[in-house]
Amino acid sequence: MTSWTAASLLAEIAEIGRNGDGSYSRFCLRPEEVTLREWFVAKATQIGLTIVTDMNANIWAWWGTPGPDAVLTGSHLDSVPGGGAYDGPLGVVSSLVAVATMRDAGITPSKPLAIVAMADEEGARFGMPCLGSRLAAGKLSKAEAHKLVARDGQSLPDAWRAAGLDPDLIGPNDVLLTASCFIELHVEQGRGLADLGHPVAIATAVRPHGRWRAEFTGQGNHAGTTLICDRHDPVLPVAQTVLAAREAAEREGCVTTVGRINVEPGGTNVIASAATMWLDCRAEASQTVTKVVKDIQQASKTAADKHGCQVVWTRESWTDRTSFELRARMLKILGENTPQLSTGAGHDAATLATTMPTGMLFVRNPTGASHCPAESASDADCEAGVEALQTVLEELVK
Ligand SMILES: [Zn+2]
Repeated sequence: MTSWTAASLLAEIAEIGRNGDGSYSRFCLRPEEVTLREWFVAKATQIGLTIVTDMNANIWAWWGTPGPDAVLTGSHLDSVPGGGAYDGPLGVVSSLVAVATMRDAGITPSKPLAIVAMADEEGARFGMPCLGSRLAAGKLSKAEAHKLVARDGQSLPDAWRAAGLDPDLIGPNDVLLTASCFIELHVEQGRGLADLGHPVAIATAVRPHGRWRAEFTGQGNHAGTTLICDRHDPVLPVAQTVLAAREAAEREGCVTTVGRINVEPGGTNVIASAATMWLDCRAEASQTVTKVVKDIQQASKTAADKHGCQVVWTRESWTDRTSFELRARMLKILGENTPQLSTGAGHDAATLATTMPTGMLFVRNPTGASHCPAESASDADCEAGVEALQTVLEELVK
């Protein structure tokens, strides 16, 4: 018998990858994340699960023989730079507690069950969100994966080899492709549950979202000798575009973010010759995203013209609204009064939604903050999350 709780397991890993400000940086296959992987393997082994690491760097902890029709649960161990303690690990530890409790209770699943720790969900290391689940589902090819280079300069194949994985064996995972379903518990990344006064919600959908890159070019020059009227400074249209993005979001009731800007060559006494900004846009409806981005692009072109600069836009990624097929079944299992929320964040359960029925549970985050140290969940709410996950899993494996 184990006496694990989600809180007690999170306490065991609280120091791993922790930064001075209390945030976490746990990047896929870097030492901190490898320590978490070893911890996960030890815990899963302790409750009698069998470990299989696939060649996409996902770790599977099996109850029963790996094979078709498996019920999958889990989440991820990696974090964004400066992330919180709960995003990812809460789903992994909750799965461990739920499965340990089911085993202690003498339940005999009629389907194989696996807890999966998915690789580089945040994409913080290799720049590809949900890397492990994409590879396992065949949504990202081996050739594409081989081209990925970590922000620290290590190529994906080198990182794989350093971790004892063969990058030539990257590819679709048959067990995943023939699985019966995947359920992921996750800390909520907004204030939905806090405002409703409930500890746990069922996810309805991931709202449509996309990323765009805008490259502005102007003319580099001397910051002291170039008259204002002679300047073609690309930083100015960038600034106006950032403001236009905020205005469009307020007007249309969606969210836009410019979280990354590169200015070249990047000298204090040099007028920039080029500037690149990245735009992230998410809304309830795809049409809203399309309209908002079009408005922002128009504003950027007007601003670039005004300053004698050019701008070129490129869409880097797009994910349409993703509904969770398990939602209705989970609602029946947990009760019709269970709150339901959509989310603006991407998840492995969303990446896998076209591969198999998937579902998500959210646990209340009183601050509503995410990807930062303020992200939180009370011990009692974490236990409510475990209980909900266990209830659903027990039905799914019947
Ligand atoms: Zn996450």
